[in-house]
Amino acid sequence: MKKARTKASVGGDAVATGLAKIGLVLRHQAWQAGETSGLTPTQSQVLAVVLASPEGWLGVSEVARQLAVTQPTASDAITALERKKLVVRDRAGHDARVVRVRVTTEGRRRSRESAQWPDALLKAIDELDPVERGVFVKGLTKMIRSLQESGRISTVRMCATCTYFRPHQHPGAQAPHHCAYVDAPLRDADLRLDCQEHELAGEDVRPKLWQVFIKGGPSGEAVSPGAWPAMPTKSRGIRS
Ligand code: SF4
Repeated sequence: MKKARTKASVGGDAVATGLAKIGLVLRHQAWQAGETSGLTPTQSQVLAVVLASPEGWLGVSEVARQLAVTQPTASDAITALERKKLVVRDRAGHDARVVRVRVTTEGRRRSRESAQWPDALLKAIDELDPVERGVFVKGLTKMIRSLQESGRISTVRMCATCTYFRPHQHPGAQAPHHCAYVDAPLRDADLRLDCQEHELAGEDVRPKLWQVFIKGGPSGEAVSPGAWPAMPTKSRGIRS
């Protein structure tokens, strides 16, 4: 007898199909942008992850880890970028065994060009109202965390794992969360999935952050700042 499908699996199929279709648009755009910029999608991603690193350089194995590709694949892409004079490799002053990959000025320019989101995708996102966007971003955060936990993607610089994130600090407000970096409230739609200011919260804090983010604070109460272990507070702007 054919097994009855559960409600969740039916919804799951629709979400997976939708994501696959959006993925097709992004892949198509990445190859199209590559025809103009002369970069493959992997080469564009190498430029993006090296530029996003706080030190301004990454080792080859870290590039491979962040892109979830093998070291030879990352190495091939870096060699191709080096030939195009978009990255340089040198040795770290403190440890000559470490080879650093840095992006050149031209590489920075080309990365900016190839990092544009397709207009059609931006127009499609505009179709969502702020509430729908908030639900979508929260759902994406959950999925990305699950993929991260299962080792399918590397650490994502998202609010839900950030030391500055205070989930449900303002219960009942339109913007219930708080970013202690900019000292400002955040709506679900404001949550970041790739924030340059992200600092990974300690291992002991992350499960609690997640729990409060998903389940909310104690009924209608703000989660008191004292409820968190010592976590830093800053008041600065966030780079986009
Ligand atoms: S610093 Fe960035 S990632 Fe961290 S809470 Fe603020 S907006 Fe979110």
